[in-house]
Amino acid sequence: MSIKENLHRIKSSLPDDVTLVAVSKTKPVTDLIEAYEAGQRIFGENYVQELVDKYEQLPKDIQWHFIGHLQSNKVKYIASFVHLIHGVDSIKLLQEINKQAAKHNRIIECLLQLNIAEEDTKFGMDIETLNAVLEASESMKNVSIIGLMGMSTFTNDSQQIKKEFEYIHHIFDRYASINPKLKVLSIGMSGDYKLAITCGSTMVRIGSSIFGSR
Ligand SMILES: *Cc1c(COP(=O)(O)O)cnc(C)c1O
Repeated sequence: MSIKENLHRIKSSLPDDVTLVAVSKTKPVTDLIEAYEAGQRIFGENYVQELVDKYEQLPKDIQWHFIGHLQSNKVKYIASFVHLIHGVDSIKLLQEINKQAAKHNRIIECLLQLNIAEEDTKFGMDIETLNAVLEASESMKNVSIIGLMGMSTFTNDSQQIKKEFEYIHHIFDRYASINPKLKVLSIGMSGDYKLAITCGSTMVRIGSSIFGSR
């Protein structure tokens, strides 16, 4: 199936209030143009240099999401244009985003990454760190935290994935009920987005089901 057909099939299966991020990492610009021509305007990338290259080559009405692990020393390359940063996992990183956003007179929207996976992963925060980052963010004028992001364990065990998604949904609801700025729950990828939606996802990040395997 073509990229266009994949996009239409996935979009028609998403509820209206769920945003589709087309994850285009490692894919050539021609593939992104095909998705763009099919109406897609939100793209997710994992690597800073690749994101900058694609931003320069593609139409300026695209909203670029950074979904990978962001190193503080690379924030400066994307701060002028990035629309949403999904994986914020430390105060240090948030401070750097705030500083670089200020240089461009922007407010950059961010999601905090919660570590929900059973497997040992170095990405994402525990609840204590999440609380500390949220508190620290109150004094940062050039970032706005609008939600949470999570990645489930890499497994075929859907019960396990469901447990992890339900956990982050529960945490998200708790925070959103006291902070109306928190509106986005970014969970779900090609293999588990339907499950993620039943667990309250408002934003799915789908790559291989649109563009083919990497
Ligand atoms: C690559 C990636 C995705 C998309 O994965 P697919 O399985 O290809 O849909 C989603 N989120 C993150 C953080 C990724 O790195």
